Order: sequence, then structure tokens, then C-alpha cells
Amino acid sequence: MNAFEATSHYFHQAADRLQIPDDMRTLLLTPKRELRVEVPIEMDNGSLRTFIGYRVQHDNARGPYKGGLRYHPEVDIDEVRSLASLMTWKTAVMDLPYGGAKGGITVNPRQLSRRELERLTRTFIDQIHDVIGPDKDIPAPDMGTDSDVMAWIMSQYGKYHGFSPGVVTSKPVEYYGMPGREEATGRGVGVLTMKMTRRTGRKPSAMRVAVQGFGNVGTHAAKLLSEAEFRIVAIGDASGGYFREDGIDIAAAIRYSYANQRSLAGFSEADPISNEQLLALDIDILVPAALGGVIHGENAAAIRAHTIIEGANAPVLPEADRILEERGIVVLPDILANAGGVSASYFEWVQNRQHYRWSLDRVRQELDALMLRAFDHVWDTSQHHKVSLRVAAFIIGIERVHRAIQLSGIV
Ligand code: NAD
Repeated sequence: MNAFEATSHYFHQAADRLQIPDDMRTLLLTPKRELRVEVPIEMDNGSLRTFIGYRVQHDNARGPYKGGLRYHPEVDIDEVRSLASLMTWKTAVMDLPYGGAKGGITVNPRQLSRRELERLTRTFIDQIHDVIGPDKDIPAPDMGTDSDVMAWIMSQYGKYHGFSPGVVTSKPVEYYGMPGREEATGRGVGVLTMKMTRRTGRKPSAMRVAVQGFGNVGTHAAKLLSEAEFRIVAIGDASGGYFREDGIDIAAAIRYSYANQRSLAGFSEADPISNEQLLALDIDILVPAALGGVIHGENAAAIRAHTIIEGANAPVLPEADRILEERGIVVLPDILANAGGVSASYFEWVQNRQHYRWSLDRVRQELDALMLRAFDHVWDTSQHHKVSLRVAAFIIGIERVHRAIQLSGIV
């Protein structure tokens, strides 16, 4: 099953409950536009390299397309298509006035200099500037892209269309960005992990947590949770996992990673373990916040956490989802758990449109309120329909998009 089929699988589970007819399912699942472009750039050594970039615009019934831009060697059309449709359901679950899109370039950004990355980004925007815009399609960061990349996008887009800070979100704070955006996805993951813990009536200090991925999402989630007295016994990144029974000093791990080119390689305050071992630890809460597809049919039976919070997009494949559900393991799905990023992006876009700035306190308050409201809705829907939280989230998302399509008169 490829990534797009995996997302569609969850869609159909919810659509079955809603008794959506097949012709409407086809409309809801089919992306509106798929763009594949060549991105040739001159490298620092004078050679020429050609990269391939994608933008998939899945649905815009509820507002402009919205979704991240991923720079990673494994980016392909199938992955981008799947992530674009996830964005449609994510913005709908959060009730943001957006549709869903995703983009990416097949590249290992670590092998490019900053100047090469800038040329790559600007050339990509040269190819796609006509299909993006503050009221059309608003990119944001994803794996391998950061706020600098967003600044280059705004600058390059502006050369064609004039000053338009709302064309892209997660820009540097001093360049039309917003305090609190960078931490927002991890914060949302943390806020909902706390909420789930309260629901089970257990104390944070009694919770043993493992976080896979120590980038934007993983570090901020781990930081918030450790500040709330959860015991983070394991963290991990592309260099492997790190385990300490008494809990890892997250502030020290973040300092170490930042000083070490964002890598935990060589982190000696915890015992090295493999990423597979990290997933199978005897813990309460597992937060996969790195790549998609890490929990699959072969390793789902080994998971011992009772709760999984999907910080990453699509970390649990459908076969694993079924096994986990049978085993009574609760999964808080990506389209809710990691929606803090797109929610904060929405706040940034609103401010860009209004030429007005919120304080960090206001951003956090609005974000927490939005996340908790969406959580309650998903929770209640799951109880009402007697379905998993994932299917409940898809039910809410599909109902909203379906209704918008009906109201817009497309069908
Ligand atoms: P990032 O590039 O900042 O960090 C990714 C982390 O994953 C790094 O620590 C990297 O070392 C680690 N990693 C890479 N390969 C790994 C492997 N094979 N095993 C273990 N760890 C590995 O990316 P991010 O922004 O933190 O995004 C992480 C995930 O969250 C992605 O799935 C992304 O789509 C999703 N997400 C991110 C945001 C956001 O706002 N940043 C929003 C929603 C969803």
C-alpha cells in the first residue's frame, strides 16, 4: 500500500460511516491539480544540477490551498499527493478557512550550501508562482525547509506579484513572521498529550514518554512535556535513539543538538538504542515525530505504549492502525495532533492580511483554545459513532468539505 492509498484507506473508513456515495468519494479524493516541475540550478562549483519539484493542490472547497513544502531525498508524487489530501482533512478538522496542498523537492538539503538552497527555492518559485498566492495557495515549511526558505519564497513571489507577505507562512519573526509559530506544532502535540493524560486521570509525572524525531516538532513537544513533568525516557533522531530510565534532561539535549548541527549523534547523557528499540520501549506514551510509515504491520505488535500521539504525518500505516486498535492502543491522529503548525500559520496569515501583530501570549492562548476545541469535537464524535479517534477526525473533516462542496454548487 503506497502513501496515497494509506490516506484513502482512512478516508473510506469514515466515508462508510457517513454513507458518502462512490461518485462523491471520487470527487473528494481526486486532487484538483498536480504540478511537476524541473528545477535546474547552478551549484557553487559551477556545475549544473536538475532537481524535480512538486506542488499538489488537493482541494479548495473551504478556502485557499494550504500546505507545507518538503525538501527530502524520498519526496515523490505519491508522497506529496498523500500529504496534500491529509492537509485537506486537517484544515477541515481544525475548522480553518483553507483547503489542502503539499509540495516538495527531491533533494537532500544537508548536501547543499545555503546559497544553493536559496537558488533552488527561488528557481522553484519561478516555476510555480502563478499557482500560489495569499488567496490561492499558501506554502509553509515541512521537513528540510525552515523560515529562511519561507523568506526566500515571499521575496521571489514578490518579484512577480508585488508585496505579499500572506503568500507563505512561518516566515522569520523579523520578516513578517510571528512569535510562537516555530514552536506551534510541538506545542499542539504537547497540549493534546496533556489533555489525553488528564482524560485517563493519570499524573504527568507517572507518564513515561518516548519521542522519535528531534527536529522542530520533536524538540518543542519534548520541551513542553518535560516542563509539565512528564518523564521523557527516550528521544531519537536520524542518528538513532537515546534512552535514560530516570528521564532525559531535554533542555540539555536540545542545547547539544543545536550545537551539533541539529543532531543527537554522540549524545552521552543517555544510552544509545536503535530507532526500532525506541518504538518498542515499555512506556506509556509514544510520540513519533520524524518520518511517515515508521509503525507498520511488522512492528505494530511490538509497541508497548498505551497511547500514540502522531507528531509526524502518517507515522502509523493502516495495517498497523488495525493491529493497534485491536490491542486497545489509542492513537491520536496526525490530522489533529500535529495541526498546531497549520493553526499558527493561519494566525500569521490573518495578521499579514491585517498588517497587525499579536503578542506571543495571545498566539499561545488562541492556539491552545483551538487545539482543545478540536480535540473535544473529535473525542465526542468518536464516542458518538463508537469509532477510533482517527476515523472520528476524518468524519468531521469529510463532513465539512462535503458540505462546502454542496454549498458552492459544484454538485
Ligand atoms: P525536522 O526536519 O525539523 O526534523 C525531523 C527529525 O526527524 C530530525 O530530528 C531527524 O533527524 C529525524 N529523522 C529523520 N529520519 C529519521 C529516521 N529514519 N529515524 C528517526 N528519526 C529521523 O522536521 P519537523 O518539522 O520536525 O517534522 C517532523 C514530522 O512532523 C514530519 O512528518 C512533518 O511532516 C510533520 N509535521 C511538521 C510540522 C511543522 O510545523 N514542522 C507540522 C505538521 C507536521
